[in-house]
Amino acid sequence: MSVSKKDIRAYSLEELQAFFVEQGDRPFRAKQVYQWLWSKGVHDFDGMTNLSKSTRKLLDDHFTINHIAVDQQQRSEDGTIKNAIRLFDGRVVESVLIPVADRTTACVSSQVGCSLDCAFCATARLDRMRNLQPDEIFDQVVAIDQQSKAYFDRPLSNIVFMGMGEPLMNYNNVLKAIEKITDASGLGMSPKRITLSTSGLPKLIRKMADDQVQFHLAVSLHSALQSTRESIMPFAQKFPLTDLLSALQHWYVQTKRQVTFEYVVWKGINDDQQHIKALVDFCLRVPSKVNLIEYNAIGDDAFVQAAPEAIEAYLSALKKARITATIRRSRGKDIDAACGQLANKKSGIPV
Ligand code: SAH
Repeated sequence: MSVSKKDIRAYSLEELQAFFVEQGDRPFRAKQVYQWLWSKGVHDFDGMTNLSKSTRKLLDDHFTINHIAVDQQQRSEDGTIKNAIRLFDGRVVESVLIPVADRTTACVSSQVGCSLDCAFCATARLDRMRNLQPDEIFDQVVAIDQQSKAYFDRPLSNIVFMGMGEPLMNYNNVLKAIEKITDASGLGMSPKRITLSTSGLPKLIRKMADDQVQFHLAVSLHSALQSTRESIMPFAQKFPLTDLLSALQHWYVQTKRQVTFEYVVWKGINDDQQHIKALVDFCLRVPSKVNLIEYNAIGDDAFVQAAPEAIEAYLSALKKARITATIRRSRGKDIDAACGQLANKKSGIPV
């Protein structure tokens, strides 16, 4: 029996209802099971205590519950926790718990490795092995929620898709996971507390807008000059800034939500007036704000955090143009949990 067992969380509610009807039971049973799986996050059928023993056995005969395991946990001096997450097939991704004042943010992964080639990012040095399943994304959120309760005495409050991978390259699974995270029959979190971060894939940004998603969007811009952007993010040759801008304008028209631009300033790359002016012009063309991210070195001398004066010059130019800009300080640096550093050294792949 075990070879043909399917992962029960790959089934929709309707499919589970059909299963129970086929087995001579009532469709209502599926709702009970669904609640255990997606609202209470149980990992074995025996934990479904309001089901009869025979129903639990029936489920166990037909299905498995593939779930993640927190393989290793590292805690930073600043409270950040990095988790190495082992997937059911042995592959490893990382998720990070970031405590900020009275909130807890989960930074989750969407792919094993990444297929994009951002020159400054540690994950980009890994091959993309596969997309995460919806339940593998969902489980990271549940695990971090549990850690937040255990270590900080409060539930998880925010989720950012800024871990390993490009979430829009795993569009369907990421959206399914968000549905389970936000739905009343799942974790019931507000979509307003979720931010999807993308390197900027215009067609998929348009699709998200048309699909009327309810969460926030962040775009890793890093340069508003096409030649610079494609030199540090080579995939951008195929997705010019003009297309990105019009996709973002479409996003705003459809959702009325402003975009957050993530932006790192590097010495000799984008720390001059020309780049500052280009960013201001870009921001003025779509309702947006800017998050200036501190750079986390990954062992490449070409990328060095710009001098504080350059960051100040960005801040004052943006302020003058009435564009909101904030600086995001690095967290979890001492445990390689900071932005762009996720590459799980345990996988044996040198970073
Ligand atoms: N692929 C998605 C999400 C993962 S990266 C994206 O590109 O948005 C999350 C953020 O970290 C992105 O803004 C990315 O550009 C940034 N980042 C990557 N490497 C970094 C590094 N070494 N230091 C600081 N930020 C980095």
